[in-house]
Amino acid sequence: MPPLRSEASPRADTANRKKRAIVLDDDPSIGDLIRPFAEGAGFDVEMIGDPTLFTAAYSADVDLIMLDLNMPGLDGIEILRFLGQNRCEASIIIISAYDQEILAGARNLAKREHLNIVDVMTKPFDLSKLAGQLGQAGSSSARAPRSSAMRPPQDRPTVAELQQAIAENRLDIHCQPKIRLADRLPVGAEALVRWKHERQGFVPPDYLVRLAEDNGLVDDLTNLVIRKACDNFRLCRLAGNLVSVSINISDRSFGDLRFPDKVLALVEAGGLSPSDIMLELTETSLSADTKSVIDILTRLRMRGFQISIDDFGTGHSSLSRLNDLPFNELKIDRSFVQNLDRDARARTIVRNTIELAKSLNLTTVAEGAETPEQVRMLSEFGCDIAQGYFFAKPLPVDEFKSWMKSRVASENSAVGSTG
Ligand code: C2E
Ligand code: MG
Ligand code: MG
Repeated sequence: MPPLRSEASPRADTANRKKRAIVLDDDPSIGDLIRPFAEGAGFDVEMIGDPTLFTAAYSADVDLIMLDLNMPGLDGIEILRFLGQNRCEASIIIISAYDQEILAGARNLAKREHLNIVDVMTKPFDLSKLAGQLGQAGSSSARAPRSSAMRPPQDRPTVAELQQAIAENRLDIHCQPKIRLADRLPVGAEALVRWKHERQGFVPPDYLVRLAEDNGLVDDLTNLVIRKACDNFRLCRLAGNLVSVSINISDRSFGDLRFPDKVLALVEAGGLSPSDIMLELTETSLSADTKSVIDILTRLRMRGFQISIDDFGTGHSSLSRLNDLPFNELKIDRSFVQNLDRDARARTIVRNTIELAKSLNLTTVAEGAETPEQVRMLSEFGCDIAQGYFFAKPLPVDEFKSWMKSRVASENSAVGSTG
């Protein structure tokens, strides 16, 4: 389904505007059931029984969409994708008789599309819960703010601004420690790019990286991050604490077969050695042209760099592909780690991923560990390293350095003073 032609206009959220709801279900009895509750909660309700009519009825001022996942002709997943493409900001309630796994899949897709799913209701409904949800849905407080990566175009930093910020060296890095679970000592840090825009404050890295990638600026961005990482970690290494610095690289850099030598030259000029550097490549980016990926990763390894597969679990790498590519480390995506304490399936995935990685001789890193319970489980499953807010958020370099000193001093006095 193509996106609507015009950009969804920012919603006119005047207090008096009547809220609009669409109920999309091929079963008319469901609509009849929902309508009085929705009207009672102040919605103008439009019932649609034929999913192919939905795109014509949808517009950006819809506040609430109740969506049946299984309909003839067009399934609810296609509708979710359409809503994502159109940057829908409405509250969405999924109604479905499907089992938990399918519903979890739909929720995941919606999350990826930055949609605001407020509830998943399984048939038959709990009507009191429905009334409660409808009371809240569509209010501006219930609407999750879309990340600023999704801001209307006129608000977003432009390529020209990014180019200038890079040229003037105004981008920065924050550093997030990686903690070895066996002794809770920091054994590395990930450098994450940060851009503080004059008008808009911090620009979300995901948006900024995509902007750089789409406009031929990603090599300049990577260079800047490597230079800043070298400048700072040379000093950290002198303090004797750090094992490696992780740097994210983009698969767009893989079009250039000289990439390994360029990175090597930068790192050496920055006073570090390739063995100090862990290059992170997301699992999704591995689907790029296989030959050049193998070529570049192998040559990076030959030059002494370590390679990590980032956001593992979000892409589609086969086991053989994992075995073909010369990785040192596997980072389990934070979406699994964060569900460890509430979702048995996430636990199974994390435990098995750790087993798999170990059998391939890869170091395992869990990203996004936020709670003591998550950290406890990761230790129990034999995960080597964790990174996440539980230990520290990504910190400005100076704060990071103080954090390292106090952490090392308090966790293990045997390591000694840290300069
Ligand atoms: P990533 O490489 O997977 O980095 C980890 C992200 O998880 C970071 O987001 C970090 O702030 C966040 N994070 C870490 N611990 C937690 C936690 O406990 N809870 C939660 N909710 N989040 C946590 P950030 O800094 O927003 O970066 C997002 C992505 O942007 C990165 O994901 C990476 O793919 C990309 N990125 C960042 N810096 C660079 C860069 O210099 N170059 C490239 N190519 N990509 C970069
Ligand atoms: Mg990363
Ligand atoms: Mg990651």
